[in-house]
Amino acid sequence: MHHASFAAAAVPRRYSPPASATTVPADASPLPPRHPAVDLESLAGWLAERGEPAFRMRQIRHRVFHSSIDNWDQATELPRTLRSDLQRHWPLFPNPVAAHRVARDRTEKLLLTLSDGEHIECVLMRERRRRTVCISTQVGCAMGCVFCASGLLGVKRNLTAAEVIEQVLRLDRLLPADERITNVVVMGIGEPLANLANLQRVLDVLTSSEGYGLSPRRITVSTVGLPDAIRRFGDLGKPFNLAVSLHAPNDELRNRLVPVNRNIGIAAVLAAADDYFRRTGRRVTYEYVLIGGLNDAPSHARQLAALLRPRCAHVNLIPMNPVAVLPYHEPAPPRTRRFQEILLQHDIAATVRKRKGADIDAACGQLRLQVRTAPPFSDTADTPTTPSATP
Ligand code: SAH
Repeated sequence: MHHASFAAAAVPRRYSPPASATTVPADASPLPPRHPAVDLESLAGWLAERGEPAFRMRQIRHRVFHSSIDNWDQATELPRTLRSDLQRHWPLFPNPVAAHRVARDRTEKLLLTLSDGEHIECVLMRERRRRTVCISTQVGCAMGCVFCASGLLGVKRNLTAAEVIEQVLRLDRLLPADERITNVVVMGIGEPLANLANLQRVLDVLTSSEGYGLSPRRITVSTVGLPDAIRRFGDLGKPFNLAVSLHAPNDELRNRLVPVNRNIGIAAVLAAADDYFRRTGRRVTYEYVLIGGLNDAPSHARQLAALLRPRCAHVNLIPMNPVAVLPYHEPAPPRTRRFQEILLQHDIAATVRKRKGADIDAACGQLRLQVRTAPPFSDTADTPTTPSATP
Protein backbone atom coordinates (compact mmCIF):
# COMPACT_ATOMS: atom_id res chain seq x y z
CA MET A 1 0.00 0.00 0.00
CA HIS A 2 1.50 3.28 -0.98
CA HIS A 3 -0.01 4.95 2.05
CA ALA A 4 1.38 2.43 4.46
CA SER A 5 3.75 4.97 5.92
CA PHE A 6 0.77 7.03 7.13
CA ALA A 7 -0.15 4.51 9.72
CA ALA A 8 3.30 3.94 11.18
CA ALA A 9 3.92 3.12 14.80
CA ALA A 10 1.04 5.19 16.19
CA VAL A 11 -1.59 2.46 16.42
CA PRO A 12 -2.29 1.65 20.05
CA ARG A 13 -2.26 -1.82 21.46
CA ARG A 14 -4.92 -4.08 20.00
CA TYR A 15 -8.22 -3.47 21.67
CA SER A 16 -9.52 -6.58 23.38
CA PRO A 17 -13.29 -6.77 23.35
CA PRO A 18 -15.01 -7.72 26.57
CA ALA A 19 -16.29 -11.29 26.53
CA SER A 20 -19.80 -10.36 25.50
CA ALA A 21 -19.07 -7.25 23.48
CA THR A 22 -21.81 -7.66 20.93
CA THR A 23 -23.57 -4.36 21.58
CA VAL A 24 -22.48 -0.91 22.60
CA PRO A 25 -24.16 0.97 25.44
CA ALA A 26 -27.21 2.99 24.45
CA ASP A 27 -25.76 6.14 26.00
CA ALA A 28 -22.89 5.99 23.54
CA SER A 29 -25.13 7.32 20.78
CA PRO A 30 -25.59 11.04 20.15
CA LEU A 31 -29.02 12.61 19.81
CA PRO A 32 -30.48 10.96 16.73
CA PRO A 33 -30.45 13.69 14.10
CA ARG A 34 -33.53 14.05 11.94
CA HIS A 35 -33.00 13.17 8.34
CA PRO A 36 -35.38 13.56 5.40
CA ALA A 37 -34.68 10.00 4.22
CA VAL A 38 -35.43 8.40 7.58
CA ASP A 39 -37.87 10.54 9.56
CA LEU A 40 -40.56 10.74 6.94
CA GLU A 41 -43.38 11.04 9.45
CA SER A 42 -41.91 13.91 11.33
CA LEU A 43 -41.02 15.62 8.06
CA ALA A 44 -44.66 15.25 6.98
CA GLY A 45 -45.71 16.76 10.31
CA TRP A 46 -43.28 19.65 9.89
CA LEU A 47 -44.66 20.35 6.41
CA ALA A 48 -48.26 20.17 7.61
CA GLU A 49 -47.53 22.66 10.41
CA ARG A 50 -46.30 25.09 7.82
CA GLY A 51 -49.48 24.62 5.84
CA GLU A 52 -47.74 23.03 2.89
CA PRO A 53 -49.93 21.05 0.48
CA ALA A 54 -49.80 17.26 0.68
CA PHE A 55 -47.98 16.86 -2.62
CA ARG A 56 -44.85 18.50 -1.19
CA MET A 57 -43.99 15.27 0.54
CA ARG A 58 -43.96 13.47 -2.79
CA GLN A 59 -41.76 16.14 -4.35
CA ILE A 60 -39.36 16.00 -1.45
CA ARG A 61 -39.17 12.20 -1.42
CA HIS A 62 -38.49 12.24 -5.12
CA ARG A 63 -35.61 14.65 -4.60
CA VAL A 64 -34.13 12.62 -1.77
CA PHE A 65 -34.19 9.23 -3.47
CA HIS A 66 -34.46 9.84 -7.20
CA SER A 67 -32.48 12.95 -8.01
CA SER A 68 -28.93 14.11 -7.72
CA ILE A 69 -29.38 17.25 -5.65
CA ASP A 70 -26.89 17.83 -2.83
CA ASN A 71 -28.81 20.59 -1.14
CA TRP A 72 -32.35 21.91 -1.10
CA ASP A 73 -31.50 25.13 -2.92
CA GLN A 74 -31.21 22.98 -6.04
CA ALA A 75 -34.84 21.80 -5.74
CA THR A 76 -36.11 24.69 -7.81
CA GLU A 77 -39.66 23.35 -8.04
CA LEU A 78 -40.10 24.22 -4.35
CA PRO A 79 -40.87 27.73 -3.09
CA ARG A 80 -37.74 29.64 -2.16
CA THR A 81 -38.47 29.97 1.57
CA LEU A 82 -39.32 26.29 1.86
CA ARG A 83 -36.02 25.47 0.20
CA SER A 84 -34.02 27.52 2.65
CA ASP A 85 -35.98 26.20 5.63
CA LEU A 86 -35.47 22.63 4.45
CA GLN A 87 -31.78 23.35 4.10
CA ARG A 88 -31.66 24.65 7.66
CA HIS A 89 -33.81 21.99 9.34
CA TRP A 90 -33.59 18.96 7.07
CA PRO A 91 -30.22 18.99 5.35
CA LEU A 92 -29.62 16.04 3.03
CA PHE A 93 -25.93 15.80 3.82
CA PRO A 94 -25.15 17.12 7.29
CA ASN A 95 -21.90 15.13 7.48
CA PRO A 96 -19.17 16.60 5.27
CA VAL A 97 -16.84 14.62 3.02
CA ALA A 98 -13.37 14.60 4.57
CA ALA A 99 -11.78 12.67 1.72
CA HIS A 100 -12.79 11.29 -1.64
CA ARG A 101 -10.53 8.85 -3.41
CA VAL A 102 -10.92 7.33 -6.84
CA ALA A 103 -9.06 4.14 -7.72
CA ARG A 104 -7.77 3.06 -11.11
CA ASP A 105 -10.63 0.55 -11.35
CA ARG A 106 -13.06 3.48 -10.68
CA THR A 107 -13.85 2.29 -7.19
CA GLU A 108 -14.59 5.36 -5.11
CA LYS A 109 -14.26 5.77 -1.41
CA LEU A 110 -15.63 8.50 0.82
CA LEU A 111 -14.54 9.36 4.31
CA LEU A 112 -17.27 11.27 6.13
CA THR A 113 -16.87 13.38 9.25
CA LEU A 114 -19.75 12.90 11.69
CA SER A 115 -21.21 15.57 13.98
CA ASP A 116 -19.11 14.33 16.90
CA GLY A 117 -15.90 14.41 14.86
CA GLU A 118 -15.76 10.66 14.24
CA HIS A 119 -15.05 9.30 10.78
CA ILE A 120 -16.66 6.56 8.75
CA GLU A 121 -15.99 5.10 5.34
CA CYS A 122 -18.16 3.96 2.48
CA VAL A 123 -17.30 2.65 -0.95
CA LEU A 124 -18.81 2.56 -4.47
CA MET A 125 -17.75 -0.32 -6.71
CA ARG A 126 -18.41 -0.70 -10.43
CA GLU A 127 -18.55 -4.08 -12.11
CA ARG A 128 -20.11 -4.22 -15.56
CA ARG A 129 -23.66 -2.96 -14.97
CA ARG A 130 -23.55 -3.42 -11.24
CA ARG A 131 -23.15 -0.44 -8.98
CA THR A 132 -22.53 -1.78 -5.51
CA VAL A 133 -22.09 0.30 -2.39
CA CYS A 134 -20.45 -0.93 0.79
CA ILE A 135 -21.59 0.87 3.94
CA SER A 136 -20.53 1.09 7.58
CA THR A 137 -22.81 0.59 10.60
CA GLN A 138 -20.62 1.50 13.57
CA VAL A 139 -17.75 3.80 14.43
CA GLY A 140 -15.10 1.13 14.87
CA CYS A 141 -15.89 -2.45 15.79
CA ALA A 142 -15.89 -4.53 18.97
CA MET A 143 -15.40 -7.93 17.39
CA GLY A 144 -11.59 -7.77 17.35
CA CYS A 145 -10.92 -10.05 14.34
CA VAL A 146 -7.13 -10.20 14.28
CA PHE A 147 -6.68 -9.49 10.57
CA CYS A 148 -9.11 -6.53 10.35
CA ALA A 149 -8.26 -2.83 10.46
CA SER A 150 -11.75 -1.75 11.56
CA GLY A 151 -11.50 -3.13 15.05
CA LEU A 152 -7.99 -1.96 15.84
CA LEU A 153 -9.25 0.95 17.91
CA GLY A 154 -12.29 -0.77 19.37
CA VAL A 155 -15.87 0.41 18.94
CA LYS A 156 -16.94 3.97 19.66
CA ARG A 157 -20.66 3.88 19.00
CA ASN A 158 -23.44 2.70 16.74
CA LEU A 159 -24.27 4.78 13.70
CA THR A 160 -27.77 6.21 13.57
CA ALA A 161 -30.06 5.11 10.74
CA ALA A 162 -29.60 8.58 9.21
CA GLU A 163 -25.82 8.27 9.25
CA VAL A 164 -26.04 4.94 7.44
CA ILE A 165 -28.55 6.13 4.84
CA GLU A 166 -26.50 9.24 4.23
CA GLN A 167 -23.63 7.04 3.05
CA VAL A 168 -25.90 5.43 0.44
CA LEU A 169 -27.21 8.79 -0.76
CA ARG A 170 -23.72 10.32 -0.91
CA LEU A 171 -22.50 7.43 -3.08
CA ASP A 172 -25.66 7.61 -5.18
CA ARG A 173 -24.72 11.23 -5.99
CA LEU A 174 -21.38 10.07 -7.41
CA LEU A 175 -23.20 8.27 -10.21
CA PRO A 176 -24.33 9.96 -13.42
CA ALA A 177 -28.03 10.81 -13.65
CA ASP A 178 -28.90 7.70 -15.66
CA GLU A 179 -27.32 5.26 -13.19
CA ARG A 180 -28.52 4.02 -9.84
CA ILE A 181 -27.14 1.87 -7.09
CA THR A 182 -28.05 -1.73 -7.90
CA ASN A 183 -26.65 -3.54 -4.85
CA VAL A 184 -25.89 -2.73 -1.25
CA VAL A 185 -23.46 -4.70 0.90
CA VAL A 186 -23.39 -3.97 4.60
CA MET A 187 -19.74 -4.93 4.88
CA GLY A 188 -18.07 -1.71 5.91
CA ILE A 189 -16.85 -0.77 9.36
CA GLY A 190 -18.69 -2.33 12.29
CA GLU A 191 -20.83 -5.33 13.10
CA PRO A 192 -24.24 -4.64 11.53
CA LEU A 193 -26.14 -7.14 13.66
CA ALA A 194 -24.85 -5.41 16.81
CA ASN A 195 -26.80 -2.37 15.57
CA LEU A 196 -29.86 -4.22 14.36
CA ALA A 197 -32.54 -1.72 15.38
CA ASN A 198 -30.98 1.05 13.30
CA LEU A 199 -30.06 -1.37 10.52
CA GLN A 200 -33.69 -2.41 10.29
CA ARG A 201 -34.79 1.21 9.73
CA VAL A 202 -32.12 1.54 7.06
CA LEU A 203 -33.23 -1.63 5.28
CA ASP A 204 -36.84 -0.40 5.39
CA VAL A 205 -35.85 2.85 3.70
CA LEU A 206 -33.69 1.08 1.11
CA THR A 207 -36.40 -1.40 0.15
CA SER A 208 -39.52 0.72 0.49
CA SER A 209 -41.19 1.89 -2.70
CA GLU A 210 -41.38 5.29 -0.99
CA GLY A 211 -37.65 5.09 -0.30
CA TYR A 212 -34.80 3.93 -2.53
CA GLY A 213 -36.84 1.01 -3.83
CA LEU A 214 -34.22 -1.75 -3.96
CA SER A 215 -35.16 -5.41 -3.84
CA PRO A 216 -34.09 -7.12 -0.58
CA ARG A 217 -32.39 -9.69 -2.83
CA ARG A 218 -29.89 -7.03 -3.81
CA ILE A 219 -28.92 -6.28 -0.24
CA THR A 220 -26.37 -8.35 1.68
CA VAL A 221 -25.69 -8.10 5.38
CA SER A 222 -22.37 -9.48 6.54
CA THR A 223 -22.01 -10.62 10.13
CA VAL A 224 -19.29 -12.05 12.32
CA GLY A 225 -21.99 -14.57 13.29
CA LEU A 226 -24.13 -13.55 16.26
CA PRO A 227 -26.72 -16.34 16.48
CA ASP A 228 -29.52 -14.50 18.32
CA ALA A 229 -29.21 -11.48 16.08
CA ILE A 230 -29.15 -13.68 12.96
CA ARG A 231 -32.48 -15.14 14.06
CA ARG A 232 -33.95 -11.71 14.70
CA PHE A 233 -32.70 -10.62 11.29
CA GLY A 234 -34.45 -13.65 9.78
CA ASP A 235 -37.61 -12.68 11.65
CA LEU A 236 -37.81 -9.55 9.49
CA GLY A 237 -39.17 -12.08 7.01
CA LYS A 238 -37.58 -10.52 3.94
CA PRO A 239 -35.21 -12.21 1.49
CA PHE A 240 -32.08 -10.25 2.33
CA ASN A 241 -28.80 -12.04 1.68
CA LEU A 242 -26.88 -13.14 4.71
CA ALA A 243 -23.10 -13.46 4.64
CA VAL A 244 -21.41 -15.08 7.61
CA SER A 245 -17.74 -14.40 8.27
CA LEU A 246 -16.49 -17.87 9.11
CA HIS A 247 -12.75 -17.67 8.33
CA ALA A 248 -11.90 -21.02 9.96
CA PRO A 249 -13.27 -24.57 9.81
CA ASN A 250 -12.79 -25.45 13.49
CA ASP A 251 -13.27 -23.67 16.81
CA GLU A 252 -9.65 -23.87 17.85
CA LEU A 253 -8.59 -21.80 14.84
CA ARG A 254 -11.67 -19.59 14.73
CA ASN A 255 -11.18 -18.66 18.39
CA ARG A 256 -7.79 -17.29 17.44
CA LEU A 257 -8.87 -15.37 14.34
CA VAL A 258 -12.32 -14.23 15.47
CA PRO A 259 -12.15 -13.76 19.26
CA VAL A 260 -15.93 -13.47 19.80
CA ASN A 261 -16.16 -17.08 18.67
CA ARG A 262 -14.90 -18.17 22.09
CA ASN A 263 -18.34 -17.43 23.52
CA ILE A 264 -20.31 -18.66 20.53
CA GLY A 265 -18.74 -21.58 18.67
CA ILE A 266 -19.08 -22.57 15.03
CA ALA A 267 -21.93 -25.03 15.64
CA ALA A 268 -24.18 -22.28 17.01
CA VAL A 269 -23.30 -19.94 14.14
CA LEU A 270 -24.13 -22.60 11.54
CA ALA A 271 -27.38 -23.54 13.29
CA ALA A 272 -28.52 -19.90 13.20
CA ALA A 273 -27.51 -19.61 9.54
CA ASP A 274 -29.44 -22.81 8.75
CA ASP A 275 -32.50 -21.26 10.41
CA TYR A 276 -31.99 -18.16 8.29
CA PHE A 277 -31.97 -20.27 5.15
CA ARG A 278 -35.13 -22.14 6.19
CA ARG A 279 -36.85 -18.90 7.07
CA THR A 280 -35.98 -16.88 3.98
CA GLY A 281 -35.00 -19.43 1.34
CA ARG A 282 -31.83 -17.47 0.70
CA ARG A 283 -28.63 -19.44 0.29
CA VAL A 284 -26.17 -18.31 2.92
CA THR A 285 -22.73 -17.08 1.90
CA TYR A 286 -19.77 -17.95 4.08
CA GLU A 287 -16.92 -15.50 3.87
CA TYR A 288 -13.47 -16.91 4.38
CA VAL A 289 -10.54 -14.51 4.49
CA LEU A 290 -7.49 -16.46 3.40
CA ILE A 291 -4.46 -15.60 5.52
CA GLY A 292 -1.13 -17.00 4.35
CA GLY A 293 0.08 -19.84 6.56
CA LEU A 294 -2.80 -19.58 9.03
CA ASN A 295 -6.07 -20.89 7.60
CA ASP A 296 -5.23 -21.56 3.95
CA ALA A 297 -3.95 -25.18 3.96
CA PRO A 298 -5.60 -27.89 1.86
CA SER A 299 -6.56 -29.62 5.11
CA HIS A 300 -8.52 -26.50 6.13
CA ALA A 301 -10.32 -26.57 2.80
CA ARG A 302 -11.28 -30.22 3.29
CA GLN A 303 -12.49 -29.54 6.82
CA LEU A 304 -14.52 -26.58 5.57
CA ALA A 305 -16.02 -28.74 2.83
CA ALA A 306 -17.09 -31.35 5.38
CA LEU A 307 -18.71 -28.65 7.49
CA LEU A 308 -20.66 -27.06 4.65
CA ARG A 309 -21.35 -30.09 2.46
CA PRO A 310 -24.74 -30.82 4.05
CA ARG A 311 -25.82 -27.19 3.75
CA CYS A 312 -26.98 -24.97 0.96
CA ALA A 313 -23.95 -22.74 1.12
CA HIS A 314 -21.76 -20.55 -1.00
CA VAL A 315 -18.18 -19.80 0.01
CA ASN A 316 -16.63 -16.47 -0.83
CA LEU A 317 -12.86 -16.71 -0.50
CA ILE A 318 -11.24 -13.36 0.23
CA PRO A 319 -7.47 -13.18 -0.11
CA MET A 320 -6.56 -11.00 2.86
CA ASN A 321 -6.03 -7.33 2.17
CA PRO A 322 -2.78 -6.29 3.75
CA VAL A 323 -3.09 -3.95 6.73
CA ALA A 324 0.11 -2.03 7.32
CA VAL A 325 0.31 -2.53 11.06
CA LEU A 326 -0.72 -6.20 11.08
CA PRO A 327 1.65 -9.13 10.65
CA TYR A 328 -0.63 -11.11 8.31
CA HIS A 329 -0.64 -11.40 4.55
CA GLU A 330 -2.55 -13.03 1.72
CA PRO A 331 -1.55 -16.47 0.43
CA ALA A 332 0.26 -16.87 -2.88
CA PRO A 333 -2.33 -17.11 -5.70
CA PRO A 334 -1.74 -20.85 -6.39
CA ARG A 335 -2.59 -21.64 -2.79
CA THR A 336 -5.83 -19.68 -3.04
CA ARG A 337 -6.70 -21.54 -6.24
CA ARG A 338 -5.94 -24.89 -4.59
CA PHE A 339 -8.24 -24.00 -1.68
CA GLN A 340 -11.03 -23.14 -4.08
CA GLU A 341 -10.49 -26.32 -6.15
CA ILE A 342 -10.86 -28.54 -3.09
CA LEU A 343 -14.17 -26.89 -2.22
CA LEU A 344 -15.41 -27.25 -5.79
CA GLN A 345 -14.36 -30.92 -5.85
CA HIS A 346 -16.61 -31.40 -2.82
CA ASP A 347 -19.49 -29.71 -4.65
CA ILE A 348 -19.34 -26.54 -2.59
CA ALA A 349 -19.99 -23.39 -4.61
CA ALA A 350 -16.88 -21.30 -4.09
CA THR A 351 -15.71 -18.04 -5.61
CA VAL A 352 -12.67 -15.88 -5.02
CA ARG A 353 -13.48 -12.26 -4.34
CA LYS A 354 -12.00 -9.83 -6.78
CA ARG A 355 -10.07 -7.09 -5.08
CA LYS A 356 -11.36 -3.61 -5.73
CA GLY A 357 -9.80 -0.23 -5.10
CA ALA A 358 -6.58 -1.67 -3.70
CA ASP A 359 -4.67 1.47 -4.62
CA ILE A 360 -6.90 3.68 -2.45
CA ASP A 361 -6.92 1.50 0.66
CA ALA A 362 -10.57 0.87 -0.10
CA ALA A 363 -10.92 -2.17 2.09
CA CYS A 364 -11.79 -2.69 5.66
CA GLY A 365 -11.50 0.52 7.60
CA GLN A 366 -8.01 1.44 6.54
CA LEU A 367 -8.70 5.04 5.63
CA ARG A 368 -10.33 5.81 8.94
CA LEU A 369 -7.39 4.21 10.67
CA GLN A 370 -5.07 6.59 8.88
CA VAL A 371 -6.95 9.69 9.99
CA ARG A 372 -7.09 8.39 13.51
CA THR A 373 -3.40 7.64 13.65
CA ALA A 374 -1.82 10.27 11.45
CA PRO A 375 -3.74 13.54 11.29
CA PRO A 376 -3.88 15.94 9.60
CA PHE A 377 -5.42 14.20 6.67
CA SER A 378 -4.18 15.59 3.40
CA ASP A 379 -6.98 14.90 0.90
CA THR A 380 -9.26 17.83 0.25
CA ALA A 381 -12.98 17.50 0.69
CA ASP A 382 -15.01 16.81 -2.41
CA THR A 383 -11.95 16.82 -4.64
CA PRO A 384 -11.47 13.39 -6.10
CA THR A 385 -7.95 12.12 -6.06
CA THR A 386 -7.09 11.61 -9.70
CA PRO A 387 -6.59 7.95 -10.47
CA SER A 388 -2.88 7.58 -10.73
CA ALA A 389 -1.37 6.10 -13.83
CA THR A 390 1.39 4.13 -12.18
CA PRO A 391 0.84 0.40 -11.64
N1 SAH B 1 -18.53 -7.25 10.98
C1 SAH B 1 -19.06 -7.84 9.78
C2 SAH B 1 -19.03 -6.95 8.57
C3 SAH B 1 -17.82 -6.10 8.28
S1 SAH B 1 -16.37 -6.86 7.67
C4 SAH B 1 -18.40 -9.17 9.52
O1 SAH B 1 -17.56 -9.58 10.31
O2 SAH B 1 -18.76 -9.83 8.55
C5 SAH B 1 -16.71 -7.47 6.07
C6 SAH B 1 -15.81 -8.63 5.68
O3 SAH B 1 -14.46 -8.20 5.47
C7 SAH B 1 -15.74 -9.69 6.78
O4 SAH B 1 -15.83 -10.97 6.22
C8 SAH B 1 -14.37 -9.44 7.36
O5 SAH B 1 -13.88 -10.54 8.05
C9 SAH B 1 -13.58 -9.09 6.12
N2 SAH B 1 -12.28 -8.49 6.39
C10 SAH B 1 -11.88 -7.79 7.47
N3 SAH B 1 -10.59 -7.43 7.37
C11 SAH B 1 -10.14 -7.91 6.20
C12 SAH B 1 -8.87 -7.86 5.54
N4 SAH B 1 -7.82 -7.25 6.06
N5 SAH B 1 -8.79 -8.47 4.34
C13 SAH B 1 -9.86 -9.08 3.79
N6 SAH B 1 -11.08 -9.16 4.38
C14 SAH B 1 -11.21 -8.58 5.57
